[in-house]
Amino acid sequence: MTYDDQDIMTKDPLIDHILISSEQIDRRVQQLGAEISRDYVDRKPILVNILKGAFVFLADLTRSISVHHEVDFMAISSYHGGTESTGVVKIEKDLKANITNRDVLIVEDIVDTGLTLNHLLDVLKTRNPRSVRVCTLLDKSTRRIKDVPVDYRGFEIPDEFVIGYGLDYDEKYRNLPFIGVLKP
Ligand code: 5GP
Repeated sequence: MTYDDQDIMTKDPLIDHILISSEQIDRRVQQLGAEISRDYVDRKPILVNILKGAFVFLADLTRSISVHHEVDFMAISSYHGGTESTGVVKIEKDLKANITNRDVLIVEDIVDTGLTLNHLLDVLKTRNPRSVRVCTLLDKSTRRIKDVPVDYRGFEIPDEFVIGYGLDYDEKYRNLPFIGVLKP
């Protein structure tokens, strides 16, 4: 599908600018998929998707990976409708799969302070997976509080609150095909 990012943006007066276009996202997701496919030959990894923000990314990523893999979902809350992390992390929905001895690839929308991912890694490691790696579409590494390992990174972004391609502001804007920034 081709989207007219500019057209969508100009119709919403609250969007300030496009940070990453849908074309740039498409291209990068294909590259990530190729990299993951090379690294997981004969491994059948399980992609652990963190809801809700990463669901759009997963939908594209899974179709760009050529090796067999499973997907499963987890919901974690660290955000409560606003734009600042509370640091409070709660598992709201757990995995269905047993990940013991499995190669786990966490698929995240964004790593910001790293608090969410750090907590998640601690939880998953107690289940004795064979390996755990992290794939995030966006990385705001300048905001890091917890040093977490990021194995696959889509884009490094500045310290701005972003929306679109799964990421929300008050549950809105997840449907945008690009990553944008709201007006202050
Ligand atoms: P962290 O624990 O790394 O600070 O935050 C991770 C979570 O915070 C992400 O999974 C995401 O839900 C949320 N988050 C962090 N930065 C942003 C942002 O710029 N926009 C949106 N929509 N969510 C964000």
